[in-house]
Amino acid sequence: MKQVLFQHGTLALLVPGLLAGTMSIGELLQHGDTGIGTGAGLDGELIILEGNAYQINGQGQVRQVPADFTVPFADVHQAAYQDVTTLAQLSQTQTYQRLEQLVKAPNTFYSVKINGSFQMMHTRAAVKSTPPYKTLVATAQQQQEFTAHNVTGTLLSYYSPQLFHGAAVAGFHSHFLAADHSMGGHVLDFVLTKGQVQVQVFDTFEQHLPIADHDFMQHDFSHDNIGADITTAE
Ligand SMILES: [Zn+2]
Repeated sequence: MKQVLFQHGTLALLVPGLLAGTMSIGELLQHGDTGIGTGAGLDGELIILEGNAYQINGQGQVRQVPADFTVPFADVHQAAYQDVTTLAQLSQTQTYQRLEQLVKAPNTFYSVKINGSFQMMHTRAAVKSTPPYKTLVATAQQQQEFTAHNVTGTLLSYYSPQLFHGAAVAGFHSHFLAADHSMGGHVLDFVLTKGQVQVQVFDTFEQHLPIADHDFMQHDFSHDNIGADITTAE
């Protein structure tokens, strides 16, 4: 059976500020029950778990979003994870190194889900902006950061090969949701106390583009600093 990662939009289109919502959550959920993304105008961070889409907004509040909530960018897939191992007492860098050693798939996309406890979790959430939108780097400067200690929850990561930096973020892109929904967001740093690691490797990357969006279709990307700006903002 094909293992498909479905991506709506690209990180590259966020760089010049093409932040309009171009797919609804309702439609996105038809492509998977698990995922990450952001809302229109970088309206917070999204994490989709077991078919429920949650938003961590710029104030750090968590809520389940309705089917008509729209996104400029999201990754989703149908969860079919394999249990791999338990990891404990690792920094973010150490965790990602161990995952790369365990999965051994640097040239394809895969997802990692870690359910566990974290001694420290440091996240950010973008703050919604309104049209006319600014660039990704300018909009990301409005982000708020949050830190929790001894928090239990789910870390959901997508690994993308270096070759796809621009369409996605090369390496791991992780979002977090606390089990009690007290915090979450785009992950900046963490210390893992102990967690159960699940992995799903994809053989198919389905890239969906917002061709009904006039601004996207007309935009000239030739002067945008795609790779560097994604590295700065993400
Ligand atoms: Zn993110």
